Amino acid sequence: MSVVTVTIALIAGLAAGTAARPLITTRSVPRGEPLRLTCPTCSAATASPSPRNWIRAATGRCHACRTRLGPAPLAPNTSPARYSPPLPPPAPPAGPAQPSTQYWLAACGTTLALIDLAVHRLPNVLTLPTSTGTLLLLAAGQHGSLLRAAAAAAAVTAVYLVLALVGMGWGDVKLAPAVGALLGWSSWAAVLGGVFTGFALAAGASTALLLTGKATGKSRIAFGPYMLLGALAYLGRENLASQSTRRPTSSRPGH
Ligand SMILES: [Zn+2]
Repeated sequence: MSVVTVTIALIAGLAAGTAARPLITTRSVPRGEPLRLTCPTCSAATASPSPRNWIRAATGRCHACRTRLGPAPLAPNTSPARYSPPLPPPAPPAGPAQPSTQYWLAACGTTLALIDLAVHRLPNVLTLPTSTGTLLLLAAGQHGSLLRAAAAAAAVTAVYLVLALVGMGWGDVKLAPAVGALLGWSSWAAVLGGVFTGFALAAGASTALLLTGKATGKSRIAFGPYMLLGALAYLGRENLASQSTRRPTSSRPGH
């Protein structure tokens, strides 16, 4: 991975995170409550601040009165989901559709994850475009994996549907097509690996919360972030592995 690639990714992550902050602050409200369009202290608009105020709001405080608002300072900019895809050159047979979809899911996923962590819900207004956009981006790519992506989207959604019937969130069901399709575009092994990684991360985090007394057996945890991070981390690891196995032949053409 070149320095230029890393720098571009860092700048893109910072810009996208700052752009997403008003969306996260506005939508981080319990179900049934009106959107948070203004600061609770000074009533300054938080939904559509001017570009200058937008940058000031990246500190996690109201741009007018400095009241703490939305996620922690720089959390949307530095979320690991944004950087977990290791910016791979398109690896055959996945083609360019897979990296672009990874970036789409990382960008939408960061916004969704921060809302889920704040209020334990994944709003339809964000999950549905995330899933639809993922399917459209994959459909615009090479053929061959599309059928498997659609089948995987259906399979993963069915799994989360069953889990929702026994108490998991319905927001996770609406996010499942995006996660399933992206993983399915690569392989069935990626579907199993990515979904399992999500559950493993959630189990690890829950155990840590229980052991540190920050949660009890009855606490609810936001599953969306682990679901997304599991899929992106698995694909990121796969892409890094495929890059390292391709490197010796591509970097030494004469040997
Ligand atoms: Zn204010």
